[in-house]
Amino acid sequence: MGKNNKKKFQVPDESHLLLPAHPSSTSGQTTPIVDTHTHLVSTFSVYQGKYREGKHASIFEFVKSMYNRPGSHRVEAIVDVCCEAPVQRVWKELADSALTPDGREKDWGGIEYWFVMGAHEAKVYTDDVEKDILEAMTHPRCVGWGEIGLDYHYDNSPRKIQQDVFRRQLRHAVRLGKPLTIHTREAEEDTERILKEEVPRDHRIHIHCYTDSPELAQRLLDHFPNLYIGITGVITCSTNLNTSAVIRNFTSSPSSAMRILLETDAPFMVPSNLYPSLPTLKGKLPLCHTAMIPWTAEFVSGVAGIGWDTEKVMRVGRENARAVYGV
Ligand SMILES: [Zn+2]
Repeated sequence: MGKNNKKKFQVPDESHLLLPAHPSSTSGQTTPIVDTHTHLVSTFSVYQGKYREGKHASIFEFVKSMYNRPGSHRVEAIVDVCCEAPVQRVWKELADSALTPDGREKDWGGIEYWFVMGAHEAKVYTDDVEKDILEAMTHPRCVGWGEIGLDYHYDNSPRKIQQDVFRRQLRHAVRLGKPLTIHTREAEEDTERILKEEVPRDHRIHIHCYTDSPELAQRLLDHFPNLYIGITGVITCSTNLNTSAVIRNFTSSPSSAMRILLETDAPFMVPSNLYPSLPTLKGKLPLCHTAMIPWTAEFVSGVAGIGWDTEKVMRVGRENARAVYGV
């Protein structure tokens, strides 16, 4: 590769991560942001990897400076996802810092920090991992079990093991009454069958970063009245038609509520419609973060069509986050 090609991949200056206000935030009262699925530890580590001389030395500083910008949508709450095995003990430091209003003000700039925990990688699920997750479930800032589920796209663990570990975690979550954060990819039949076998119909469920078929989404929505579909910036990808089809199915029947949750699944899925708002940016941003949610909402409103705008999608997403996670 020549020198010129190299230039193309230069990471833009970190100042571009400080976003301008989304146009909808200038129209009077706006609904605050709730990011229902974000991986803070890995987002921060991507940030540190890309910006070795970066301004922000801790997760707290990163969040306080990036998430709440003057004139922009206020970030009200985040649901952080801890799904590594073995469990990373940093979870407790983050969760404990949010125990009191003073702690949330000091460390999080007033943002409500919540988390879910589960083991995503089935082959490394052990009794010790399970013990750690069960301990985390008793923490007052823990609002769910996840992300867990079947991924036949990557097949990182043998499918039989994926299914066994999925069932095992579902049973605990159901027993504890914890909302579920489910990851499913190209495993439609098995995900549907196992969920229906293990989980009571009225359990609260978040099928996160949904990209599978609209038919599967519909069957799950029909069966589980408290199940919601997670929408990330991946809805803006031109190769992904499924997620938009799910949105259209909601709006095609006037009586059906839009059961979606807005999420970033940070660090990687920058909504592509954000870029026109950053005219001085050359290249692509190397990570996404919670303040990008209004652009995802804007894209959803465009797919939903007549009667929808960014603010209405934000409002629905905010109410649904409360319904699922109580946040
Ligand atoms: Zn995730």
